[in-house]
Amino acid sequence: MPSYDYDLFVIGGGSGGVRSARVAASLGKKVAIAEEYRYGGTCVIRGCVPKKLFVYASQFHEHFEDAAGFGWTVGESSFDWKKLIAAKDIEIARLEGLYKKGLAGAQAEILETRAELVDAHTIKLLKTGETVTAKTIVIATGGKPNPHAALPGHELCISSNEAFHLEELPKSILIAGGGYIAVEFANIFHGLGVETTLIYRGTEILSRFDEDLRRGLHEAMVAKGIRILCQDVMEKVAKDENGLVIQTMKGQTLNAGVVMLALGRDPYTQGLGLEKAGVAVNERGAIVVDDYSRTNVENIYALGDVTDRVQLTPVAIHEAMCFIETEYKNNPTKPDYDLIPTAVFSQPEIGTVGLSEEEAGKRYKELEVYRAQFRPLKATLSGRAEKMIMKLIVDAASRKVVGAHILGHDAGEMAQILGITLKAGCTKDDFDRTMALHPTAAEELVTMYAPTYRIRDGQRV
Ligand code: NDP
Repeated sequence: MPSYDYDLFVIGGGSGGVRSARVAASLGKKVAIAEEYRYGGTCVIRGCVPKKLFVYASQFHEHFEDAAGFGWTVGESSFDWKKLIAAKDIEIARLEGLYKKGLAGAQAEILETRAELVDAHTIKLLKTGETVTAKTIVIATGGKPNPHAALPGHELCISSNEAFHLEELPKSILIAGGGYIAVEFANIFHGLGVETTLIYRGTEILSRFDEDLRRGLHEAMVAKGIRILCQDVMEKVAKDENGLVIQTMKGQTLNAGVVMLALGRDPYTQGLGLEKAGVAVNERGAIVVDDYSRTNVENIYALGDVTDRVQLTPVAIHEAMCFIETEYKNNPTKPDYDLIPTAVFSQPEIGTVGLSEEEAGKRYKELEVYRAQFRPLKATLSGRAEKMIMKLIVDAASRKVVGAHILGHDAGEMAQILGITLKAGCTKDDFDRTMALHPTAAEELVTMYAPTYRIRDGQRV
């Protein structure tokens, strides 16, 4: 048997990498993990966590406005971008510390260096030039923003990475894309007082979500003052003395202080030495893995965004836990991708689990759609023109709830709990016999007794 320096070497200190390293080390394996930037990865350092903090920051102006309806007089308010960035940076540094503490506590060796493969068992540590060997390797290097290199002037644009460290809050921003990041940041910047435009190539934002919610969110964003340009794309970005000038495919000329690209994220595999180790990638540069996250090289696994399966933090963590079961517990375990709850932290928020009405219509012969649209209680006194949408998609034959979709406050929180009910295979009858909790918005989910409409063979009847 050959001997190696480590039982496990993990490349990448994000959600999936840290979880694999920490748990393997806690099982008594000799583990090292290398990260070239900061521990915590995209989610903690420049993704989900700081984004959510920004979302909170961007909601206060509406809270101040709403307060008047409840008898409060709020004095003059102002917003300090630099203060927010500094406070956010302190919290992110704290979380990064916790990630490292967890690794150290499990006796994993923490390396602050870029690491590249030399062969299937050898890794080069770029900081020192040293090489080390490992029996098993996990690649969890994540992704990076699509730079849209074909766009003339793309180098003048920022991505979400830079959005977390802008020196100044711009007066205006143009965001390209219609996915999670574009929509969330459009709401964040608008909420912080930035004149915001979104440009999206498709007919409606958030292409993979339920049509009803997409339309509802679009209308709500426009009503707040966000400009949304659909079926158009940027053709050129240039700089003049006033800022950036953007030409679009439809012939519009737009001006913005900052242009942000949110056009998807690419697997981060460049220069990793994959070819030296014989690890196969697909046409997008993503590492190809089997159902157990194993690459074509027996002792090398890959998980998280670098595999381009489902780009979500909890999924990377789940894949890491499945890797541990498979490799170290003699219990081959495939990640389960069915019914992943997800939220878009827009304003209003989207929370969803299961199939959209459109997808469900293709899979099931007959559906019952339960839909409620209402003004939330808080909006009555605040006077805010705001509508919540709740939708349950039910397979008429089995009565199973196959999709649940919410637009409105705390939709993400509700989607997490609904995830349990769908995962458990609950039927509409289970929802019906659940007592309502009054007064909440969520009670609508258990009080929609009659179908609003039906879908038969994909057609609304
Ligand atoms: P998404 O895949 O969500 O969206 C990418 C957007 O860019 C789509 O609207 C897509 O259009 C558009 N697009 C792609 N290429 C081009 C192009 N060449 N020209 C014009 N438009 C283009 O990616 P994001 O960057 O928003 O986010 C990356 C990933 O991060 C997400 O997939 C998500 O998994 C994760 N994420 C999750 C969050 C959450 O859970 N709340 C928050 C943020 C990110 P089209 O729809 O037509 O393909």
